[in-house]
Amino acid sequence: MLSVWTHPACALHDPGPGHPESPKRLAAVLTALEMPEFAGRIVLRAAPLASREALALAHAPELIERVLEPVPTGFRLRLDPDTVLSEHSAEAVLRTVGALLAAIDEALAGSQRRAFCATRPPGHHATRDRPMGFCPVNGIAIAARYALSAHAIERVAVVDFDVHHGNGSEAILAGEPRALYLSSHQWPLYPGTGLEPRSDNARNAVLPPGSGSEAFRTAWRELLLPELDAFAPGLILVSAGFDAHRLDPLADLRLEADDYFWITRELCALAVRHAEGRLVSTLEGGYSLSALTECTRAHLRAMLMD
Ligand SMILES: [Zn+2]
Repeated sequence: MLSVWTHPACALHDPGPGHPESPKRLAAVLTALEMPEFAGRIVLRAAPLASREALALAHAPELIERVLEPVPTGFRLRLDPDTVLSEHSAEAVLRTVGALLAAIDEALAGSQRRAFCATRPPGHHATRDRPMGFCPVNGIAIAARYALSAHAIERVAVVDFDVHHGNGSEAILAGEPRALYLSSHQWPLYPGTGLEPRSDNARNAVLPPGSGSEAFRTAWRELLLPELDAFAPGLILVSAGFDAHRLDPLADLRLEADDYFWITRELCALAVRHAEGRLVSTLEGGYSLSALTECTRAHLRAMLMD
């Protein structure tokens, strides 16, 4: 069985007409759960609200105030050129973070060691004091800090295979020796970071535009997975962005859904080796709706294997 955490509020965050980070993305992800192969094997869980204190694990008070400020019906609040809040965004943000923290609680309790958070908005670009790149707050960085503080996990790894570099995750976790940030991403591409790590605890593998399965798997097999293995984390957190898929409109890599099956299997194997199987994944990017369904299916299928 696999826990999938989600909440209807995550579909109500609406950055506006034509915005690629649309509510339809969540519907595309949830469509994958309807596949007959998952019948009776997935437990859908309602994501709880995270507290303001949880957000403060990774963010400045000024950012938290701005993101949670009420937005009147019919209005939008623009936090940066492409990060926009609507009336229900604050709840969507708190449910997205709450899903991660609840999944970690379950994984550490041993009841459900693997979980996927089917939530939005994404988070890995948000820095301590700056929302950016569709990301109001950084759920995965909050989750890493939470695992280290609330659960006294000795080492936590954040694995990010979104096509964009998770600049916010790397920056927030910089200087934290109990955390390791690993990312493969297209370069050059938004946000322009990730060519060199900014801290000893980050490893970045850059993929030139046009790279496909072979370059992606080689980067993980030869560079990033050995680092993860050597770090021996007690918990693996996954920033699961599916925008390196060949159909994605925002980037130029050429992955297939099977590549997400492959990387997920590799990560689950390392979680079994070092972390008693504990692996919690959260949706980041992915802007082709058909690819989102297909990649989510591959990701979950891999998580359901022993
Ligand atoms: Zn992305």
